[in-house]
Amino acid sequence: TCEQTPTGPIETTMCDYETVESVNGVLYNELHELVQTPFFKYFRADLYRECPFWDENTLCMSKDCAIITVDESDIPVKWRAETLSKLERTSEELRDDLPGCYYRDSDFCFLDDATEGDYVDLSLNPERFTGYVGDSAHRVWKSIYEENCFGQSELSLLKNPTNAPVVLPDTMSEVLRTDGSQPNEQCLEKRVYYKIVSGLHASISTHICHEHLDKSTGEWRPNLECYVTRIASHPERLQYIYFNTVLLLRAVARLGPYLSAYDYCSSGSHEEHATTVDKLAKVIEIAGIAGQFDETVLFRGENANVLKAEFKEHFRNVTRIMDCVGCDKCRLWGKVQTMGLATALKVLFELDEKALDPRANANLLHRQEVVALINTLHRFTESLHAVDDFRRLWREANATD
Ligand code: FAD
Repeated sequence: TCEQTPTGPIETTMCDYETVESVNGVLYNELHELVQTPFFKYFRADLYRECPFWDENTLCMSKDCAIITVDESDIPVKWRAETLSKLERTSEELRDDLPGCYYRDSDFCFLDDATEGDYVDLSLNPERFTGYVGDSAHRVWKSIYEENCFGQSELSLLKNPTNAPVVLPDTMSEVLRTDGSQPNEQCLEKRVYYKIVSGLHASISTHICHEHLDKSTGEWRPNLECYVTRIASHPERLQYIYFNTVLLLRAVARLGPYLSAYDYCSSGSHEEHATTVDKLAKVIEIAGIAGQFDETVLFRGENANVLKAEFKEHFRNVTRIMDCVGCDKCRLWGKVQTMGLATALKVLFELDEKALDPRANANLLHRQEVVALINTLHRFTESLHAVDDFRRLWREANATD
């Protein structure tokens, strides 16, 4: 099972696995360099907001859960000031009453208030095994899957506010059956929602298994058994990693002119800006090839607007659930990636060509959203890169048996 590469069309996209496979090597390398540049490595997040849904007081005491923050004075003033001025622009728009975060109507994500939070150098805080396991982690995942229950007037999250042990079904698609519906009989939009969250979960698990701590030797190394149990024995999870990659690539392709016109310079040096734009141009070019996702087939039928509003509300909740993750580093990457996916969803389902025009709408996205989108795409391409490594390890393990 581990060695197999899925083939043929990637369901609900216009792309096939072979195309993603053929571009992923170059794409991953470009993104890997891009996320080390000053613009893309600094991310600001309020990591210490209370969990709005249940009493979450788990503290992951492992040193691997901790993050290194950077002093705000090390961050180019321009980006600090820019964040603030963009926030001013949105302050008149719709805000939720949740302290410390807000959203604009078109957002699929709650954004942190620019006056709160720490700057983090993402390149110094890699997403990998941290030892965060057990009830706290399971409750968060279960709640995320329960957000897939569309058509319910109350937040499913609020149904289990106690800290009672979380009993997990065999696979999270079972969660959806609690309302009597089978995932395969659901409408396209609900299936897409499930694929997004299951694909994110699978991608995070792939990183955990690929950069795993061997407690007996203290060494960091890929753990094949972890990968086989969590991913390879559920082939659809791997397929959803590809699905998310295509979805993110489509958003990057649509944002091409906007991203090319963005100002990436921190210091006034033209060179820094030019290098970033150059790397980004390659990513945008590849996105044009492999980002074959037809967003127009979603949210079309009767009640399309209601369904879209619900989809958005549920995804926003997923971004809020990140405040319930009981491990700082996991919460940081959870925030980056849910914001990255939310940005892609906004680009695909809320913004038309006119809105995406950089001359007409230069302040369309916050710097945070651009950083999150590119880092999230990097995470998914890194997962596919790790999958290649696991395939090799599997072949080697079986050759010596
Ligand atoms: P879990 O991964 O917790 O999964 C719970 C259940 O969900 C499984 O039993 C299975 O039924 C089902 N399931 C699993 N994968 C899928 C899938 N792809 N699709 C559908 N159903 C599925 N830990 C780290 O070490 N490092 C991190 O950076 C990290 N980041 C995290 C970020 C978030 C947002 C969360 C919620 C957790 C994070 N964790 C991290 C914890 C990690 O995801 C696991 O929860 C933990 O390793 C325990 O794994 P598990 O094997 O018990 O199953």
